[in-house]
Amino acid sequence: MQEFHPKTIIEPFRVRSVEPIRFTTLAERETALAQAGYNPFLLHATDVLIDLLTDSGTGAMSSRQWAGMIASDESYAGAASFYRFEAAVKDITGFRHVIPTHQGRAAEHILFAAIAKPGDVIPNNTHFDTTRAHVEATGAEARDQVIAEGRQPHLIHPFKGNMDLAALERTIAEVGRERIPCIMLTVTNNSGGGQPVAMANVRAVSEIARRNGIPFIIDACRFAENSFFIKLREEGYADKAPIDIARELFSYADGCTMSAKKDGMANIGGFLALNDDTLATRCRNLEILTEGFPTYGGMAGYDLEAIAVGLYEALDEHYLRYRLRSIEYLGDKLSKAGVPIVLPTGGHAVYLDARAMLPHIPATEYPAWALCNALYLVGGVRGVEIGSVMFGLQPDGSERPAALELVRLAFPRRVYTQSHVDYLAEVILAVNAQRNELPGYRIAWQAPVLRHFTIRMAPIRS
Ligand SMILES: *Cc1c(COP(=O)(O)O)cnc(C)c1O
Repeated sequence: MQEFHPKTIIEPFRVRSVEPIRFTTLAERETALAQAGYNPFLLHATDVLIDLLTDSGTGAMSSRQWAGMIASDESYAGAASFYRFEAAVKDITGFRHVIPTHQGRAAEHILFAAIAKPGDVIPNNTHFDTTRAHVEATGAEARDQVIAEGRQPHLIHPFKGNMDLAALERTIAEVGRERIPCIMLTVTNNSGGGQPVAMANVRAVSEIARRNGIPFIIDACRFAENSFFIKLREEGYADKAPIDIARELFSYADGCTMSAKKDGMANIGGFLALNDDTLATRCRNLEILTEGFPTYGGMAGYDLEAIAVGLYEALDEHYLRYRLRSIEYLGDKLSKAGVPIVLPTGGHAVYLDARAMLPHIPATEYPAWALCNALYLVGGVRGVEIGSVMFGLQPDGSERPAALELVRLAFPRRVYTQSHVDYLAEVILAVNAQRNELPGYRIAWQAPVLRHFTIRMAPIRS
């Protein structure tokens, strides 16, 4: 008999514990959305059928993670759970010092407080919003230097998250190495659509950093998804295990920041990992101020256990194939039906292009917000607007349209099955069929900063 190679990529797990989802009527959703000020962030999660607001901390844990949690050590100092967590992080990243934090932004807070000051510049392919906020809080400049292809939503390129190496060299020449406390690389590039970075690019950034004596730090939130993209798309990696690809990736860097709510497969947690002894001591001292003792750092022992197991599960090849395929599967269905999306699909989300889909709604009436709300009204699906509501308000109070009007549909890890994705495609196509009738929105009330979280909107009915 021959080895059977099925075309169907199945969920690589069976369901052991279920969580019911609540079906609502259109009238119920209309009421819920109106009560939420037409802001999906303000909906009660129980009024949502398929929740794609974020992939952060929303994944399902495995029976092995739960087993680890039950057997956790909650000692204040030197808990066995910390040593299991530390061993896993060291085994995968190879970094000498592991500093646990309650989530990714806490690792960023500690790192930048330790190394950055006013007048400094930190280059990155694209800073995630919390990364940018922590860089800017120190008075330094967060400079995005992704390749030009990474800024074009419909252009196909295997590694749209790559750093623009020439731009990086220009930045170093212009500001001087002494004003660049580190170079960062975000894998995958979340704000750029979850697009991967090639190993060759990681190697080249590392070479530039070392030649200039600048530390190189990886924002590792989706390191496992990025490693699998390298396996699928980069020459020489097809036969390598994801964990070995991840180890090579980290070997080029001097440290990393991590949100364990992503590829840590946990509901909370994170870490900062570093090679430099002096810097690590400085960071541990800062950690004690804001996070806690260095062997728990803002987490319970059971969180440390969940991450120690989750980091390996995120690198499982069957899991990664299912994960990337479920996102690509939705992307393929939408593309075939003519729905405009960001291409190619990335590692954790599908992005709908609302400007292309709703040309009758001007940026001043927030087309991506309109599309996001239509998905909820039609199918109980919650996504998130990444457009002019999120980015349009300028520090001086004026309004400027965002570069792109997108709705991000982020997939929680191991939560939804293929039939959920089929349903999702049906909802999006139903919305697409009535796209010309969708109303734009106006702002009814807004906060002065990060307004999208609490904003209240109203549909413009003509
Ligand atoms: C989520 C995320 C962070 C911040 O992590 P939190 O756990 O949400 O604080 C930083 N960088 C990237 C790329 C992320 O996706």
